Order: sequence, then structure tokens, then C-alpha cells
Amino acid sequence: MDDAPYELLEELEPGIARVLAHNPSAFTYYGTQTYLVGDSQVAVIDPGPDLPEHVEALIRAIGGRQVVAIMCTHTHRDHSPAARPLANVTGAPIIGCAPLALETVGPRADAAFDGNYAPDYVLEDEEHVDIEGGQILAVATPGHTSNHLCYGIVGGQSDGALFTGDHVMGWSTTVVVPPDGEMASYMASLDKLRKRQDRVYYPAHGPAVTNPQQYVRGLMGHRMQREKQILRLVGEKRRDIPDIVAKAYPGLDARLLNAAAGSVFAHLLDLEQRGLVVHSEEQWTRA
Ligand SMILES: [Zn+2]
Repeated sequence: MDDAPYELLEELEPGIARVLAHNPSAFTYYGTQTYLVGDSQVAVIDPGPDLPEHVEALIRAIGGRQVVAIMCTHTHRDHSPAARPLANVTGAPIIGCAPLALETVGPRADAAFDGNYAPDYVLEDEEHVDIEGGQILAVATPGHTSNHLCYGIVGGQSDGALFTGDHVMGWSTTVVVPPDGEMASYMASLDKLRKRQDRVYYPAHGPAVTNPQQYVRGLMGHRMQREKQILRLVGEKRRDIPDIVAKAYPGLDARLLNAAAGSVFAHLLDLEQRGLVVHSEEQWTRA
């Protein structure tokens, strides 16, 4: 993982560049990708973790250009903490997702919420920020977290690019863990993207997605398969979540077990709401 292009400015297409933060993990892939959008002025999307060398790399990459906005897709600690130090240096406003800081300890340290995130302006769904030659449009996509936004470029040279944060990642399906993560919202947010006509996705982790519609349909299919499998397993007999995880994710990397358990729990809560499963104590079965 050390041969990845950390802390370097890489142009991905005219007007879109990235700087990869040095925070690789089982959940972040090579790390968080911070995007710079624009030429003579830039917007910064997902400033990333507050690692001094990452913030310094961003300042170098910006190189004296005006920063019109610092925008976070959500407030997990691998996405938003660099917003404040970057704002302090550049004077740019922090515009984007709502603050959200839950005390809940999740299955992964870097999924903890950034309690210091303090935006200057919160974007609602379909609100936008003006950039050179176009706009950055907020696309509310709850599911991975309840405050998650994707950012779509409308007009200008980067028209049709969508920055998908952790909602759609380029290397793995996202983590949906209750209480804040919610499967029904996640599926609705995938369906929302399916109905859009984006040209390319730039996720916070993993490579760009150049076949967005097909990719989103694949993700939806994957979750529906998982749901069917869980229904079948609890239909056979009463099962607790570790039992379902062992059956549904054979041979899973131990570091991902908690995330898988969270995801199964998210499915079960959704199925319960739809009247398809019931539980007593830790044991789940078909309704
Ligand atoms: Zn996240």
C-alpha cells in the first residue's frame, strides 16, 4: 500500500484532480481521496483526515488559487476533520453536509463521527454552490450515514461528474450500520442515483466508476441478494446475528466481521419494519 501516490496532486480529467490521504485500512482501501474541482478557482470535496502531511499536500495542491468552498459528503473521521485547518489557511467557507456526531461506537475507528465539524452553511438536497462555469449540486443520499450528500457537477468542463463519497465506492460495497446507517434509506438513495444520468462517479475510496447506471444496478442487486439470503437463513430456523454472518459471509476477513454484523442488523431492522421478520432477544426468525 505504500507505493500508492500519497500526497500527490493527480489530474483525473480536465478540472478534476485528487490528492490521496495516507490513511489506508480495511475500510478506506488505499485511503481517502480528496478532490479539487476547478482550474483558477477550486472547490475541495472531502478534505479528509486531519493528518498534517495531508493538509500540507492540499495546500500545496491548491497553490494560492482561491478556494470557493470546502465540502464534506459526511462527517466520518476519514472525511471531514481536515476541513477546519484548511479553512483556517485558505479562508474558504465550509459548505455541505449537516453536522452529526453520535456517541455510538461503530465497528471501525475511522467511522467514528467528527464531533468538531462545524459548517458555515448546510446544503439541503438540490441546493448548489456556484463554481467557474457551473455549479456543484447537493444530492442527499442518506443510508451510509443520515447526513450523507453526493455532489454533482452541472455545466462547465466537468459536467456529469458525481462525487459519491462513501455512498457508492469504487472498490467495495459501502458499510450500512445502525443506528445511524439505514438500509431502506440506502436503497432509496441508490435508486435516486439510478435515475440520474451521471457520466462518471468519483468516490472517496477506490477508482472512478465509468459505468454509473450499471454499477448502481449491480449494488442494488447485491443488497437484494443479501436480503433474500438472510430471509432464507432465518426461515430455516431461529438465528442470531453472528450465526447469520457466519453463514452469509463464509471466510470473511476477521477485521470486517463487525461491519458485516452491522450490515446484517441493518437488513434485519428493515425486514422487521416491513413485517417480514420478528425477533425475541437476539434470535431472529420469519414473521
Ligand atoms: Zn463514511
